[in-house]
Amino acid sequence: MRQEKIKRFLVFCEPCAYKKIYSTDNPEDLIQIKVSPIPGGSPRLEKGKTVERPAKKQLNKVKCPNCGRGVVMKPLPDVYSKSYDEIDKREQKAKEEAEKKKRIEDGTPVKYKPPEFLG
Ligand SMILES: [Zn+2]
Repeated sequence: MRQEKIKRFLVFCEPCAYKKIYSTDNPEDLIQIKVSPIPGGSPRLEKGKTVERPAKKQLNKVKCPNCGRGVVMKPLPDVYSKSYDEIDKREQKAKEEAEKKKRIEDGTPVKYKPPEFLG
């Protein structure tokens, strides 16, 4: 079974020290702040043709739930990601075990019930 990688983000607000790890890139309890992409710069000339520079996408910005300042949602640093990977793996395994157990339980044949004696 393929394990789905859970994306996690760190919201850290320096001014008020609010820190929380979110496991989705679009958490419902956060207010997204619209960020416009950073322009890649003026178009350059290549073999007589103008080539547009692609705009850079910015990191998602959200409102700090504590103080309302705009904070960037950073992808979780590797150190955290690795430990979360371990937790995810363990959870996945526990889930698989539970499913296996359930399958075995479901698979047991229904106990034979003798038909009622009707005389
Ligand atoms: Zn804050």
